[in-house]
Order: sequence, then C-alpha cells, then structure tokens
Amino acid sequence: AVSLLEIPERDIYRATHCLLTNYKNTSIRADMTKVRGLAALSKGAPFTRFDFERRELGSNDVKIDIAYAGICHSDIHQVREEWGPALFPMVPGHEIAGVVSEIGSAVTKFSVGDHIGVGVFIDSCRNCKPCKDGLQQYCDQGMTGTYNQLERDGKTPAMGGYSNIMVINEDYAVSIPENLPLDGVAPLLCAGITLYSPIKHWKAGPGKKVAVMGLGGLGHMGVKFAAAMGAEVTVFSHSPSKEGDAKAMGAHHFVSTKSPDFNKSLIKHFDLILNTVSAELNINDYLQMLNVDGTLVVIGLPGKPYAVEVGSLLPARRSLSGSMIGGIAEMQEMLNFCGEHNIVSDVEVIKADYINQAYDRTVASDVKYRFVIDATTF
Ligand code: NAP
Ligand code: ZN
Ligand code: ZN
Repeated sequence: AVSLLEIPERDIYRATHCLLTNYKNTSIRADMTKVRGLAALSKGAPFTRFDFERRELGSNDVKIDIAYAGICHSDIHQVREEWGPALFPMVPGHEIAGVVSEIGSAVTKFSVGDHIGVGVFIDSCRNCKPCKDGLQQYCDQGMTGTYNQLERDGKTPAMGGYSNIMVINEDYAVSIPENLPLDGVAPLLCAGITLYSPIKHWKAGPGKKVAVMGLGGLGHMGVKFAAAMGAEVTVFSHSPSKEGDAKAMGAHHFVSTKSPDFNKSLIKHFDLILNTVSAELNINDYLQMLNVDGTLVVIGLPGKPYAVEVGSLLPARRSLSGSMIGGIAEMQEMLNFCGEHNIVSDVEVIKADYINQAYDRTVASDVKYRFVIDATTF
C-alpha cells in the first residue's frame, strides 16, 4: 500500500494520476458500492465529477443515501493546501445529512429510513483516554478525518460527503431529530458542534457576556446557541451589512470591526470570546476585551500563528484557548438540543455544478450563512 502522505509534493500529481488510472482499471466488484461525487484532483483545482467506490457493508456499518453536504471553510483550506500538503483526488465534505438505506447485521443504533448525520471524523483508536471519555476528536493517535486522510487500515483514502452514498461504522454516526429539515441540519455536523462544544464547556448562559468573532457558517451557529442558552451575545464582523441578520439570529449587539477603534469602549467587557474568523487578524485587539478570568477560544484556522502580546493576557488573568469540533456523544446532545429548540443553520442550497462559485463566494464572506449541496445533483 502506498501512503500518499509519504510522497513528495512534486509527485503527488503523478500518484493522483495512478490512483485515477487504478480506479478506471479496477473492475468493480459486486460487493463494492458505486458512488458519484465531486473531487479536486490537485491543489486548488476546480471540482470535477468523480466516480469511486466505497467498501462493502460490514456488520457494524450503515449505508447512507446522502441528502445534503455542507461546504465548510475547512474544505476550502484543505483543497487549497492552506494547512499543508493534502491527499488528492480529494472528495471533501464533513457536514453530511442523509437517510439510512441499509444496515449491517450487527447494527443496533439505526434502522433503515432513519435520518442520520456524519461529521468531521469517521473513526478513532477507541482505546485511549480521550476516546474512552467520548472526546474522539482529541484521540491520542489522531482521529480519522472524513476525507484528506487514510482510513485506519493505513491505505484506503477516506472520501467525504460531496457524494451521494456513504458507508460508515455506526459508532461514528449520529441520529438527526425527525422534526428538523435535512438541508439546515447538515452544517450542524461541523459548524454546529464546533460552537456548541465550547459554549457548553465555558458555560455560556444567563449573566455571561459572550462575543462571536465572524458571522460565517460557524459564527452564526455560535450566535444561535449562545442566545438559546441565555447569554448576552455580541457579534464582531467586518461585514456591516450582516447586522440585521445577526440580531434576527439572537445577537443583542453588533460591532463592525472596520473602524480601528472598534474595541475601545469594550475593554474588560466579555467573559468568553469565540474566534471563528478564517483569516489572520490582530488577536490582541480581542484579548483586551476579556474581563478578569475571561477566555478567548480560537476556533478559526487561518494557518498562520498569532502574535500574542503578554500585556494582553496579564492585566486580567486572561486565558487563550482552543477548541476543535466535539465528540460523538456531544454531537448527539447538540442535535437533540437543536430538535428541542428548533435550531438549524441558515443555508443556501446549491446544485453540484455551482461548487466552484460557492467556494469563491465563501472566501469573500458572501454566503447566508452556509452553502449546502443537494446530493441528488452529483
Ligand atoms: P466562513 O463561513 O467563511 O466564515 C468565516 C467568517 O470570518 C466570515 O464569514 C467573516 O465574517 C470572517 N472573515 C473572513 N475573512 C475575513 C477577513 N479577511 N477579515 C476579517 N474577518 C473575516 O468559515 P467557517 O466555515 O465558519 O470556518 C471558519 C474558520 O473555522 C475556518 O478557518 C475553518 O477552517 C475553521 N474551522 C475550525 C473548526 C474547529 O474545530 N476548530 C471546525 C470547522 C471550521 P464577517 O463577514 O462577519 O466578518
Ligand atoms: Zn468543518
Ligand atoms: Zn483514541
């Protein structure tokens, strides 16, 4: 087995080409599942139609007819190799909502017809302390990403949700409350859990002043969750036109970051600041707004380090922390919370052939507030 991760960057295109040729030459075994999807064949390449196969259904696997797949900014970072060398051909997509079409003989969590979701990982070691504590995203051996990674067999490239069918071990999928529409649910599988988890961990609720930086796919879910939990919510945005939407989602205050003095009246103001911005910024402007013992949680992943001034942390015993998605149990808790409170993402549903424009519009912060691809159009 060849690990693409071990191949020097200049050879990745050749390896990709071999892989594609292999796909073409391998006669499709009856027990494999033929899948239609979209792939980027190399760094930053426009998406093309891509046919591939998924494994036969194992006894603990479920087969999913994907209904919608969200476009997360992490998909874009990886296709464009903004986080380093990536695995191609890449079928991104880790915000997956669909319907169970078939179950393996030992499956207990799901039945055919159930609404089901898959997020950012499809497996983990299952034995380390984080895995046993339900924090699979912090697995000591590394979670197995839904794409841009080899599966735990060390050889099968994982293929994500920009496709019409998924096969997954039932332990790494979650149940979607039947009262929620699948298009609005898809983004909950990454954007939703990624904000729900820190909002719960740092106990945002009544009496707490919470700020959300960036009103994008992640940020708008942060506003909805923090408001639903009773916190006083402020949005920091470089898009002044989003003020009305932010307030409709539950924000109490909206601050445009366009003016250099935007933080001056808010020094030592917040208990919790959630940074979902996908681009570089001066983190000190935000740290200064934390009250005593407040925490700024880094969630956005621009791929470059922040320059943190010590003087931004010391004067109020401030903390700078980070948070990454959430574990399976917490994903289920988040979806149940959404079912009870009727919370879904605000989405623009697109057809597969709009994907390249959707990427450009996402990078331009021009989406309300998440693109989801209708999987019947792959
Ligand atoms: P998104 O929909 O593109 O939203 C990002 C928001 O950041 C934009 O809507 C915009 O909000 C703001 N922004 C973008 N460019 C900016 C700039 N040049 N200056 C200032 N603000 C800017 O992206 P997303 O899908 O929410 O993801 C956000 C980040 O989180 C990405 O880096 C992604 O990789 C990362 N992420 C992390 C995790 C995790 O587990 N930690 C999970 C998923 C994603 P305004 O228009 O309101 O300013
Ligand atoms: Zn994501
Ligand atoms: Zn583990």
